[in-house]
Amino acid sequence: MLFTTLLLSYFRAKRGEMPPQKTQGIVLGFTDWHETSKIVTFYTKDFGKIRGVAKGARRKKSKFSPLEILSHHIIVFYKREDKDLCTLSECQTKETFPNIRKDVKKVAYGAYLAELIDAVSTSEKSEALFDLFLKALHFLERREDSEIIIRAFETRLLDILGFGLHLDNCLICKKRLKENFKFNPGLGGVICIHHPQDGIRISEETRNFLRNPGIKKTSSETRKELKTVLQNSIHYHIGKRLKSLDFLEAIE
Ligand SMILES: [Zn+2]
Repeated sequence: MLFTTLLLSYFRAKRGEMPPQKTQGIVLGFTDWHETSKIVTFYTKDFGKIRGVAKGARRKKSKFSPLEILSHHIIVFYKREDKDLCTLSECQTKETFPNIRKDVKKVAYGAYLAELIDAVSTSEKSEALFDLFLKALHFLERREDSEIIIRAFETRLLDILGFGLHLDNCLICKKRLKENFKFNPGLGGVICIHHPQDGIRISEETRNFLRNPGIKKTSSETRKELKTVLQNSIHYHIGKRLKSLDFLEAIE
């Protein structure tokens, strides 16, 4: 047994493969690879975003099935020194989120979460981002108010990425703002209503949600404002419009 293990690591090292790594990963997407395999993108707890080849994953009786989008697994993989693609060697499914898959609206929100995480993440480890992503999936799976779950996720995401919103003082004249303010996505916070810079009028209820996001009762006016503020801020930071938003808007 020991001899076999040693022999295997010798051949792996010869092929430029690093020692095996074990972590948790959530599937962000995949593409077909050759006749029977898949290249799977995971957001992992310990290694940020990774792309791995799952050999034979499209066969009916594959050890990797089901590798569906948003499913949560414990994976073992090998990195190669010369490539950014790794080789997936084991995959044990932890959760598949069946309630999200049953509901077309939740599917659309889930696809948006996956595309957003893909757009903002790198191979750098961020346990905070992984935990936020997993928590949002648990809420989507168990709770009904998907829209507010997503708005709370977006608010926390901006914080984790270092783009936390400034909501107390005017970003131009520094005055403390109690009323008559607007939100400017490029500046990342509130400014006085009289400044010539563009801005979105927001209510105190909206500002309170952004300060302390959570799944709570929210008026339809606030929902509209939150959507505008958060999606404009995210668009500003990632520099593109996500494709999943078109699908989401079509079913909303
Ligand atoms: Zn001002």
